[in-house]
Amino acid sequence: MSGIYVHVPFCKSKCIYCDFYSIAVQSLIGDYCNALKKEIAFRSNQLTDRHIRTIYFGGGTPSMLEIGKIEGILSEIYNNYTVDSNAEITLEANPENLNAEYLYQLRQIGINRLSIGIQSFDDATLKFLKRRHTAKDAIESVLAAQKCGFYNISIDLIYGITGIENKMWEKQLDTAFSLPISHLSCYCLGIEDNTLLHRYTAEGKYSPTDDESCLQQFLAFDSKVSENGFEHYEISNASKPNMHSRHNSSYWDRTEYLGFGPGAHSYYNGIRAWNIANVKEYIKGISEGNICLTTETLSETDIFEETIMLGLRTSEGINLREIEQHFGNEKVTEIRAAISKLQPDLYKCNGDNISLTPKGMFVSDSIIVEFIG
Ligand code: SF4
Repeated sequence: MSGIYVHVPFCKSKCIYCDFYSIAVQSLIGDYCNALKKEIAFRSNQLTDRHIRTIYFGGGTPSMLEIGKIEGILSEIYNNYTVDSNAEITLEANPENLNAEYLYQLRQIGINRLSIGIQSFDDATLKFLKRRHTAKDAIESVLAAQKCGFYNISIDLIYGITGIENKMWEKQLDTAFSLPISHLSCYCLGIEDNTLLHRYTAEGKYSPTDDESCLQQFLAFDSKVSENGFEHYEISNASKPNMHSRHNSSYWDRTEYLGFGPGAHSYYNGIRAWNIANVKEYIKGISEGNICLTTETLSETDIFEETIMLGLRTSEGINLREIEQHFGNEKVTEIRAAISKLQPDLYKCNGDNISLTPKGMFVSDSIIVEFIG
């Protein structure tokens, strides 16, 4: 079984922290959708297994698309692939787009999972981040989604924002868990290059939160998750039992997927590929019968590094026996040597399985570097 990712690279305006590829030129949406449908058809022979288990509309802001456009893209997928009758079909959405009529129509055309970008339940923070909704809009959007028949609802929150004390963050987590959600993603605010937040920081208008507060807020996320019967199954993700994001989980276990649209990434036949991250160039290329894909064949070392990187992000961790089978005993010896240098409160060993504790997950980047040498 494989997955499909559809990138919708349009946003009404840019949030201050965001470095994803998106533009605010809505006049290109029609041409973009036509090009996208052609790409979906052109590339259908790239997958080894054309049975699709998950479809994910990400962005950008997919909820800016009219229902007819989403329906047209889905039809093209159904015409060119075999979509599992129980496929998980997710749409990322922003609260300001989610009125009852739109939500109802999304359900009608087969979207069965929503990932709502809430980011904060504090109005001053939302304004600072240049989001386009209020805390009230956010809460109402989740309740409306439930009313319109969505039972698989994920929301995103951001922690590590200067000015949001630990207690305030915990209150936001309580608000999240008071809502009918099945999945919660929490990300630490990063200062990425080429963002407004990066400029504010360079100009001294914003000072990043200290690591200790970020750690405390991450640990609060972990504790509230357990208190509310959710499972913290990946660094940034938690869900009710059996409600993990199937689409994202397939990235972590290296299932094949095709990514369509400007800037979208794919993985198939041991190849990583990515589309040109420019809407106009993308549309032009496809109209000339030329998909602007860059490809890279993964080496044995790449595959080993990805296995460690992706495995250590999850609560399942990595399995030393499997690593020995795929990459040889030498790698296992190196990993054991790296483990022996780690503080005991950063990892857990269960037979051949190694996973990180919540504290270890927080510093996983440096642990991964040790593991892959
Ligand atoms: S809505 Fe999402 S993709 Fe668009 S600018 Fe904001 S964070 Fe980035």
